[in-house]
Amino acid sequence: MNKRKRIMIILFLILVGIFIISMTTIFENRITNNKNIEEIDIYEPFKKTNNFKLSNRDRYIKYYENHDYLSYEDVVTYVNIGLDYGFYKYIKPADTKKGINVLVNKYLKLDENYIPNDLEKIDDYYFINGNKNARLLRRDAKIAFEKMSKDSIENKTPVYGQSAFRSYDKQEYLYAEALKKLGEEKADLETARSGHSEHQTGLTIDVSSTKSGNMLVFENTKSYKWMLDNSYKYGFILRYPKGKEFIHGFMFEAWHFRYVGVKVATDMHNNYSNLTYEEYFYKFLD
Ligand SMILES: [Zn+2]
Repeated sequence: MNKRKRIMIILFLILVGIFIISMTTIFENRITNNKNIEEIDIYEPFKKTNNFKLSNRDRYIKYYENHDYLSYEDVVTYVNIGLDYGFYKYIKPADTKKGINVLVNKYLKLDENYIPNDLEKIDDYYFINGNKNARLLRRDAKIAFEKMSKDSIENKTPVYGQSAFRSYDKQEYLYAEALKKLGEEKADLETARSGHSEHQTGLTIDVSSTKSGNMLVFENTKSYKWMLDNSYKYGFILRYPKGKEFIHGFMFEAWHFRYVGVKVATDMHNNYSNLTYEEYFYKFLD
């Protein structure tokens, strides 16, 4: 091979080398550019949560600006619940198609004509003496409650029903009374406005440990402890736990239990005991 040919080959190899290096650089730049486009998607961290709703995306951003100590997951859940609007500020209809898992709260309202079509009367044996007009629960909840009450009585930690189903009108009356007596701020902590009471679902019951009715001191009884450890086995959850008032909007109510079915109640008890039903609902049932 003569010198000229060798130079030509070397030049050719150099050109090929330069070509490969340039192509690699261009390709890498393209990847970096794509990454930059993703990085400026401000919704990205919220999209990665399991309950992201496109229609709420700007509310997530706004809520996060004032609550940057929260995880993205919590921001998404809280906004889905409606915490960024506040209690009774942006009211939507409760979805009764969810059946025993319907969520009713200070953001979701039942129609004034809503009465469950399968209400049944709880047996007197499992109810306090008196309050005869509030002994109804939906069929599944009623069967579960009677079984729970029976077992609690046998265990000498009795749990009796004190107040179950209440109609829209009844709740309207109760709230009006509370309003007169306590003023709006306190009334709202203690009593739901009509349409916003879980008692209208026929899936909720206030309980006592005596036949004469003592729900307001239920927290101090062995029966309360028994309920915390056992109610989930029958499908009931403590609905307004301590420390979560900013979510459910009521004072802590040791006596107020909600039927959600054994599957959900057990999952909440075993795996998500720190969540309110609002949080659990928007994470897993919505
Ligand atoms: Zn109640």
